[in-house]
Amino acid sequence: MIRVENLSKKFGELTVLKNINLDINKGEVISIIGPSGTGKSTFLRCLNLLETPTGGKIFIDEIDILDKETNVPKIRQRMGMVFQSFNIFSHLTVLENLTIGPIKLLEIKKEDAEKKAMELLHMVGLAEKAESFTDQLSGGQKQRVAIARCLSMEPDIILFDEPTSALDPTMVSEVLAVIRRLAKEGMTMAIVTHEMDFARDVSNRVIYMSEGSIYEDGPPEQIFENPLREKTKAFINRIRSLNYYIGSVGFDLYAMNAEIQHFCEKHVIAKKTIRNVQLVIEELLVLHNSTTDEIDVDLTLSYSEKQDRLQIVFISSDEEGNLLEKTYEDEIGLAIIKNYTEDVEYERIKGKNKLSLFMKQ
Ligand code: ADP
Ligand code: MG
Repeated sequence: MIRVENLSKKFGELTVLKNINLDINKGEVISIIGPSGTGKSTFLRCLNLLETPTGGKIFIDEIDILDKETNVPKIRQRMGMVFQSFNIFSHLTVLENLTIGPIKLLEIKKEDAEKKAMELLHMVGLAEKAESFTDQLSGGQKQRVAIARCLSMEPDIILFDEPTSALDPTMVSEVLAVIRRLAKEGMTMAIVTHEMDFARDVSNRVIYMSEGSIYEDGPPEQIFENPLREKTKAFINRIRSLNYYIGSVGFDLYAMNAEIQHFCEKHVIAKKTIRNVQLVIEELLVLHNSTTDEIDVDLTLSYSEKQDRLQIVFISSDEEGNLLEKTYEDEIGLAIIKNYTEDVEYERIKGKNKLSLFMKQ
C-alpha cells in the first residue's frame, strides 16, 4: 500500500532521515520505537507530506506522491494523522469536529456526515459528548475525538505520533483501547509510541529507528525478546529497567517512589505489587542505613516480560556481608523483605555488596 524508497530529509545542514526503505501493507500495524530525536516524527510527517522529503520516493498504491502532478490534498486525505497534542478545533462541538471535514472536503451531505459521526462517537465511547465543546473534555476524551475525526475522513491508513504521551497516566489506557480496537478491525496504522507493552501486542511489525535510519525491523517477538542488533538490545534493556542512585539520607523518597510507580505502571504491574516493591526497597534502605553512616546505593528495578517477574538489584557500599543475614534490633524490616521476595542472591563485587531479589508473584 505504501512504499518508501531511499527517503531522506535534511533541515538545512542537519540530516534527519537517511535512506529509509519501508513497505507498509494493507492491514499492517507498525510500531515505530526508538530514542527521541531520531527522526520518528519527521518520518511520519514526510509520509503524509507535512514535510517535504529532500530525497527518495514515496508511493501510495503505486502513485508517486512526490510527483508534481500528484494531487497532494487528495493523497493526504487518505492518510489520517493523530498527534500528541490532540489538534482538534476548540471553537467547534465534538460533532462539528467530526463533520466539518467530510462536509467541506468530501462533499458529503450534512445529515449523512452527522449520522456517520455519531457512529464513530459511539465507537470511541463519546456519543454523549456530541454537543459538548472540546474544552469540556479530558485529555483522553480529546484524543479519542481526534481519532474519531481522523476516521470520519475514511483514511486508508492512520499515522499516530505518540498519541498518549501528553496524557495523564490515568487516561492512557482509554486511548490505547480505541487504537487496539482499530487494529482488530483491520485498520492499517503506523504508530510512534513509547508504550512498549502496547506496541508489543498491537503491532505485527516493530521498527527500531536510530539516528535517522531504520536500524532493526522485525516482528514484536524479535524486537522485544531477542533483538538482533546492539543498539536495539541496549534500548530494550534500558526501558525494561529503572535505575536510581541514592547518595544521602536526605534523598527524595517521594520522587523515587513516584518513579518506581511510573515504571511499574508502564509494565502493567498490579497496584499491590507496586506497593510491595516500594516497601521492600524502603526496608532495604533502612537496613543499609543501620549498618553505615554513608548512604550509597545503586538501585535497579527490572521487569522481565517473559517470566513476568520483577527483580530488584540493590548494590550498596557497606561492610562486606549479606544485609539479610545480619542481626538487627528490629527484625520487622527483614521480615517484610523475606515475605515479599524470593530467590535472593548475594554477591560481593568490586568492594560492594550486591543483592538480587525477585518479587514473589
Ligand atoms: P523524534 O520524533 O524521533 O523525537 P524528530 O523527528 O522530532 O525526532 O526530530 C529529529 C531531529 O530533527 C531532531 O534533531 C530535531 O531537532 C530535528 N528537527 C525536527 N523538525 C525540525 C524542523 N522543522 N527544523 C529543524 N530541525 C528539525
Ligand atoms: Mg517525535
